[in-house]
Amino acid sequence: MKAAALDYVRAHSVSEALNLLARHGDAAKLLAGGQSLLPALNLRLSAPAWLIDIGHIAELRGITVADTPAGTTLRIGAMTTHAALAASPDVARLAPMLVQAVSHIAHPAIRSRGTIGGSLANSDPAAELPACALALAARMVVQGPAGTRTIPAAAFFTGLFETALAPDEILVAVEVDATAAPWGFQELARRSGDYAMVGLAAQSVAGASPRLAYFSVAATAVLAPHAAAALAHGIDAACLALAQDLDPPSDLQASAATRLALARVLLRRTVGAWTEKLAA
Ligand code: FAD
Repeated sequence: MKAAALDYVRAHSVSEALNLLARHGDAAKLLAGGQSLLPALNLRLSAPAWLIDIGHIAELRGITVADTPAGTTLRIGAMTTHAALAASPDVARLAPMLVQAVSHIAHPAIRSRGTIGGSLANSDPAAELPACALALAARMVVQGPAGTRTIPAAAFFTGLFETALAPDEILVAVEVDATAAPWGFQELARRSGDYAMVGLAAQSVAGASPRLAYFSVAATAVLAPHAAAALAHGIDAACLALAQDLDPPSDLQASAATRLALARVLLRRTVGAWTEKLAA
């Protein structure tokens, strides 16, 4: 199938894109890397009258590091591709979970066009980066007609392919605080490059429960706070408590029971690796 007829406009700045969004309202969609949106248009799951291309906006690109007395923060522009993320020494040093996660996203051709902003704004329940954003307690920097606001990742993913972004807002960047604490990223997929059946992005936090963010188990990426708290009583207690956090769906890939069992496998593997690392 082919996309329905539409008009295309290329924005050259965030303010121009915001003006175009204000002018066309619900009839418009932002186009980033197009790796989720273009298939949806071709399948006619989405039929906007306008595509506003934000792929040529220089201010949406780039990865910067800010050192403050409170610590080091990584700011990743929304149009940063998955490939650029994987190739960045700053990301490898300060948020290595993202590099590991990106290696599981599809294939090189898709990673060279797909963007972190597109992945987060799309809120696909099976996508890797929303779970990383939750585990890393990332902040979404959003611009709209009223100015800039920051949304914590925990409040950003509101439903299946839905976020806290208003229709007239653009995700401009993602901020992540660097930490040296152990982390883990694991997923189980039928084939390399496939969307995961179950995945876990986990970040330990000094003096607090870790953030365990699962994907492919609910309508959005989700934190598992009961399992995280129960880890204080050991891995068996945490695996038991996971049933309070997750109520996964059944589909052609896996039943709900299988998904919960796999989620427990990933938790055991992640915590086992932490224990080995801390003992080394
Ligand atoms: P687009 O497709 O351009 O946009 C996606 C949505 O986000 C649109 O609704 C768009 O309007 C909105 N949007 C984009 N940018 C912004 C912004 N800055 N502000 C506000 N809204 C915005 N992804 C995975 O995570 N894991 C996988 O395993 C995986 N496998 C894939 C396999 C195939 C065959 C394909 C085609 C895609 C796959 N993807 C996978 C999706 C890919 O990672 C996409 O890059 C990503 O989901 C969307 O990024 P994009 O830049 O292409 O966004």
